[in-house]
Amino acid sequence: MPNITVCARFRPLSSKEKRDHGDTVCIRRIDTETFLFKDEKEEDFTFSFDRVFYEESKQAEVYEFLALPIVRDAVNAINGTIITYGQTGAGKTYSMEGPGVLECDEKKKGILPRVVDGIFEHIKSFDKIANYSIKLSMVEIYMEKVRDLLDLSKDHIQIKESKVQGILLSGATEISILDPAQALESLSTGIANRAVGETQMNMASSRSHSVYIFTVQQELIGEKRVNAGKLVLVDLAGSEKMEKTGAEGRVLEEAKMINKSLSALGNVINALTCGSGRANHIPYRDSKLTRILQDALGGNSRTALLCCCSPSSSNASESLSTLRFGGRAKHIKSSPRVNCNNDKLAKKQEVLYLNKDESCERIL
Ligand code: ADP
Ligand code: MG
Repeated sequence: MPNITVCARFRPLSSKEKRDHGDTVCIRRIDTETFLFKDEKEEDFTFSFDRVFYEESKQAEVYEFLALPIVRDAVNAINGTIITYGQTGAGKTYSMEGPGVLECDEKKKGILPRVVDGIFEHIKSFDKIANYSIKLSMVEIYMEKVRDLLDLSKDHIQIKESKVQGILLSGATEISILDPAQALESLSTGIANRAVGETQMNMASSRSHSVYIFTVQQELIGEKRVNAGKLVLVDLAGSEKMEKTGAEGRVLEEAKMINKSLSALGNVINALTCGSGRANHIPYRDSKLTRILQDALGGNSRTALLCCCSPSSSNASESLSTLRFGGRAKHIKSSPRVNCNNDKLAKKQEVLYLNKDESCERIL
């Protein structure tokens, strides 16, 4: 079973970091996989990841190493998940979206717009004759509520589980995507909707988890079966500790919820990696985030995690906790498989939904 791919990315020092703290950095690179990290007490740690991206690393390199193999697989009906993790300001959204999903500068484009192009390119190069349909859903998790970013009136999306399709967002808007330009327009609308909601709720974007889901369905002509790959991209809320933000009132409540879901994520990772050999309990149901990521972490998905960090010594303690999180996640094993629905399976699935059989489809 392959492990999940874990990479670290250090953005360049920001002008604020340079102005306030000079240009002392907490890392010394060894090679593209390993670096030395100096914490606030000048203690040295060595970290190794599948790949380390330093300040000069290009957006295209990040995409090609981390996302491209997953996109290729998704077009071949293997689920994939790409997650960005790190404190606010560490470069999660820059890596995921770039300066904006409609960014025209090829060099600056983030993972999301490259994924869109990648899906269409791989479909074109597919050697079997098949009908493809691509769908997009976008939600955000804020205060343990799942909100539809393509229809703001749906602010309480339920998470369900089906034996055939795995984890599902019940009733979330699914847009049929016909070409890359339309996909980018829809993504941009969803991202703009997030901003509307943020203003209404007086929330900063770093306080919610954004989830983008592409479903690529492949109907093989003459083979009477439908394959479907689900590609989930997650831009997580900032992982910084609460004390540092000096939070009060509502902001404190938000921070608690984020800490709750990110610690639930940490707990799931611990449970998956400290397995005693027999099936131990994995607490996916402790948060909406871990429930949505259940497929990604628990097996049927090829998964990559990008740990985003500031290189500044002034952020060493947050960067260290991000890198330790990544270090633990490296031990997770996954077992992605081709998701194939033959006719029989498809019928069974229909019945399963009509019956609302508790054992097959459960509401969180
Ligand atoms: P986060 O989403 O983790 O809160 P952002 O992605 O918004 O952080 O990044 C914070 C700031 O740093 C933004 O102004 C962004 O443009 C910049 N930035 C982040 N990563 C890079 C990078 N690799 N190269 C250049 N600028 C970056
Ligand atoms: Mg962000």
